[in-house]
Amino acid sequence: MMKIEADLHTHTVHSGHAYSTLDEMARGAFLRGIRMIAVTDHGPKMPGGPHEYYFGNLDVIPEEIYGVRILKGVEANILDDGRLDLPQELLEKLDFVTAGIHSQTGHSLNSSEEYTDAVIKAVQNPAVDMITHPVQKNYPLDLEALIKAAKKYNTILELNAGSYNKRKTFERARKENSLKLLKLAGRYRVNLAVNSDAHFHDEVGEISSLDFLFSSDYMDEKLIINKNTERVINFLSRKKQGLFTRKITG
Ligand SMILES: [Zn+2]
Ligand SMILES: [Zn+2]
Repeated sequence: MMKIEADLHTHTVHSGHAYSTLDEMARGAFLRGIRMIAVTDHGPKMPGGPHEYYFGNLDVIPEEIYGVRILKGVEANILDDGRLDLPQELLEKLDFVTAGIHSQTGHSLNSSEEYTDAVIKAVQNPAVDMITHPVQKNYPLDLEALIKAAKKYNTILELNAGSYNKRKTFERARKENSLKLLKLAGRYRVNLAVNSDAHFHDEVGEISSLDFLFSSDYMDEKLIINKNTERVINFLSRKKQGLFTRKITG
């Protein structure tokens, strides 16, 4: 079992299919000893997802709730050609931008190649900090191509505990591919995050469904960026510095 200080992928009731408020999620984090959460509600194209205005107003939330640092973010939907479902200026204002492919969000991606190309375009987007659940069952991505892009563009790849959530009746990922991603990340030295993808407050920081990765010979805790909050803060300050530099140089 690995211990993490930060959980970089959580959903509140605003996602439309999650069941706790932000206050409850922060309390859930506090009770589990998690010191930082990213609140990453789904982008507007998710059925039942929040309006763009929701993301534009996240500034009203304090930096800490129950002593837990709150990163204000999104899990944007990756659409055709790697487009995302929030305007770029809005993405650039958020603390933590994640992106992933979801069904029923209006994309027409329909093969492993198309999925891989779209995800790599999202990796290249300077506002995107992390790709959610790159290991998935339906259209397995070209993981080596993805890892190389993540290395080049300094984007975090996620090992998603929710994909193996024991409460759900089916697994959304394949263990051999999660192991392959871990192995490749070690070889190319790419940042990984191990997150709950919590949709209820008692799931915050719950990553035990990934024990098969933690006990594997490929596990190198130096790769896990959310092991402690300092690593996350250092990553974000470097990444946001890049965004800032890009903006002033046009
Ligand atoms: Zn997702
Ligand atoms: Zn999610």
